[in-house]
Amino acid sequence: MSSASARPHASASVPDSQGRFGDFGGRFVPETLTRALDQLADEYDRAKKDPEFQRELAGLLKTFVGRPSPLYHAKRLSNSVGGAQIWLKREDLNHTGAHKINNTLGQALLTLRMGKTRVIAETGAGQHGVASATACAHFGLPCTVYMGSEDIRRQKPNVFSMKLLGAEICAVESGSKTLRDAVNEAMRDWMSSVENTHYIIGSVIGPHPFPMMVRDFQAIIGRETREQCRDTFDRLPDCIVACVGGGSNAAGMFYPFVEDDGVRMVGVEAGGRGNAPGDHASPLSFGDPGVLHGSYSYVMQDEDGQTCDVHSMSAGLDYPGVGPEHSYWMATGRVDYIDCGDDAAMQAFDQLARTEGIIAALESSHAVAKAMTIAAEMKPDQHLVVCLSGRGDKDAMEIARLRGVTF
Ligand SMILES: *Cc1c(COP(=O)(O)O)cnc(C)c1O
Repeated sequence: MSSASARPHASASVPDSQGRFGDFGGRFVPETLTRALDQLADEYDRAKKDPEFQRELAGLLKTFVGRPSPLYHAKRLSNSVGGAQIWLKREDLNHTGAHKINNTLGQALLTLRMGKTRVIAETGAGQHGVASATACAHFGLPCTVYMGSEDIRRQKPNVFSMKLLGAEICAVESGSKTLRDAVNEAMRDWMSSVENTHYIIGSVIGPHPFPMMVRDFQAIIGRETREQCRDTFDRLPDCIVACVGGGSNAAGMFYPFVEDDGVRMVGVEAGGRGNAPGDHASPLSFGDPGVLHGSYSYVMQDEDGQTCDVHSMSAGLDYPGVGPEHSYWMATGRVDYIDCGDDAAMQAFDQLARTEGIIAALESSHAVAKAMTIAAEMKPDQHLVVCLSGRGDKDAMEIARLRGVTF
């Protein structure tokens, strides 16, 4: 009890002007990027207060994305678990099939406001690449997407979609050829192109103001959920669960509830195939604070402080770092972070498909798996909301391969 009460209380009014969330966050970048980041922070600040910007973004979220996304009562899943009522926040029903589009539309609008004429993005599973290519096609902006060659192999349908949308794909052959290396390459491009190029980061990671800005664009998830809970069961949920890769769907879901102490919040990292370094992607559970991609947060690293390779069967969670606000929420005890292995996520994927008729993304299936465990220990008159961050069509081929199915 005493150690918990000595912790600072989590506040919703972070970060400070330096982008610090308590001890975490900030801006660790070469000087070439400082001016572009200042320009972005200033433009974002102006846009936030500009009713015209807010109106344009809200209109797109409604007519182009299809928001608000439904809050769906998973009755058969709840009954099969035998505890709390499980509700799914259906981000999988958004245009392009995941929550990523909430952020890319906001940042594409900012690109135009800053007078920049080119966009770059990184992608892991390809969801952020598709969402960036989509936003850019909508506004007529050229878009280059950096993607590890290992992820290109795992996510062929998304690669083809990006090309259909007019984006150029740059295959990244360095390091583990996955998301971390794609971010490195995108940062390198940005250093030599900041004058005319905006880098749309796809999660609540990177140097200030990205973690704050991406959280704010994704907070529509939590704001809608609050309203929908009040409308359907007349109060706030008892518990909210979301998966954590970089942490953007979780941050968007959690942030509007941070000061509601009665709402328990649980973030689920990728437990992969075991607890040994290299077998999972759970920096909050197993990592240490360090700097990665311009921000101070928990990172999977070896004894020399080098960033480790990580593993998850879901490309979207296969990242060795995590957004700084999650490190802050963990340090303040506001959010509990746990991990879920590949096998449990795969089981949840099958159970959701068969009991509810919903094929979820493998990323989201990590949250569904832990939501079922948590709900089982709760009472039937309690309510648990899971962020169903995306749909699983993109994963079908990889799952078939893992199961030895040939067509
Ligand atoms: C990208 C992605 C994630 C992981 O990213 P976060 O920034 O942690 O949200 C989770 N689910 C889906 C469907 C994704 O596409």
